[in-house]
Amino acid sequence: MIYTIPDYYQEFRCLASDCPATCCAGWQIVIDDKTLRRYRNLKGSFGSRLANAINWKQQTFEQYEGRCAFLNEQNLCDIHLEAGADLMCRTCRNYPRHTEVYENERELSLSLSCPAIARLLLGRKERVTFRSIERGGVEQEEEFDDLLYSALQDCRELLLAFAQNRADALELRMAKLLALAHDVQNRIQARRLFEVEGVLERYRRPGADARLTERLRRYVAEQSERLSNRERLDELVTLRWRQLDYLRDFEVLDPLWREDLQEWRRLLYGRGCAGYLEAAWKFREAEKEWETEYEQILVYFLFTYFCGAVYDGDCLKKVQMSVTSVLILRELALAEWIRQDGRLSFEDRAKLAWRYSRELEHSDPNLLAMERMMGEWKEAGFESLLTLLLEA
Ligand code: SF4
Repeated sequence: MIYTIPDYYQEFRCLASDCPATCCAGWQIVIDDKTLRRYRNLKGSFGSRLANAINWKQQTFEQYEGRCAFLNEQNLCDIHLEAGADLMCRTCRNYPRHTEVYENERELSLSLSCPAIARLLLGRKERVTFRSIERGGVEQEEEFDDLLYSALQDCRELLLAFAQNRADALELRMAKLLALAHDVQNRIQARRLFEVEGVLERYRRPGADARLTERLRRYVAEQSERLSNRERLDELVTLRWRQLDYLRDFEVLDPLWREDLQEWRRLLYGRGCAGYLEAAWKFREAEKEWETEYEQILVYFLFTYFCGAVYDGDCLKKVQMSVTSVLILRELALAEWIRQDGRLSFEDRAKLAWRYSRELEHSDPNLLAMERMMGEWKEAGFESLLTLLLEA
């Protein structure tokens, strides 16, 4: 079995009672079968407490005002304090560690929804690298598409290189990711997997990078020729505004999220197109300082989700979601920057990242909704994203 981890994996330290969020509130914690059996057999007063604070039918801990029944006033876990880490369920023992499962491979990551990880990841200046180790026996699945998985892995390697190429502006990097994923997706859809290596080879050739940049710029210029300057700017603002609409349809995990979303939208678009653009242009200068943070988020999403296309055959949507997540976070950062009169601390940016990740990544319906929107909404499509990235 091959295990792959990002190089910061071992650096995680839980913030415990200093955590601004806690992972024991705001969502249901599902208890695995083995731990549930142990809880059922536990005697004494703690056994009785467990018996009363578990929803045995749903296999979850009961919650009071959105907080786990075992989360005490100091924001610490009573199961951990009274019985030790050994008695915690698998979800609690593992979080924020996340595992993507593939035949004979496990990709381990740390969830951005944890404030400690958001700080760790966004605070990092160097490019993230990944390392693999082999341990244990080989595991084979009958249904697993080895060929597709191997093509996706090769493609992801190139995507990560594009995402981390700091010679390019962030927008151009994201446009290149989309172009590559678009070309690979066409081969997957046409069942011409054997051509993927050729596509990757073309992207790797000397001079290919400059040609691609030129091609992308020409494409967007041709698209925008059909519009006047005014119409072009209106289109740009509408596209940005529509992106936040994805979030409106999400199942809400944190009730404050919905309120903030409304306020962010008001701050951004309540002042009309001209007001919005003026703020956005000023903000652009400010955010250059923390461009690396967006690179880390982009790499995080690509690493976590891209190879999952082996199960649904849609790698373009994974890249659309990664790019869209960065664009949404930039838009929310702009809103917060407006709210705070042109200031936005590192802590504010990390908070936006872990809050967004909680709403998106800790709800299967939201992840599915996001993927669906990437396929159905015109504004999330390949062309619209290119316009958003290269016309701005
Ligand atoms: S969210 Fe992260 S830092 Fe906070 S308590 Fe949970 S694991 Fe610790």
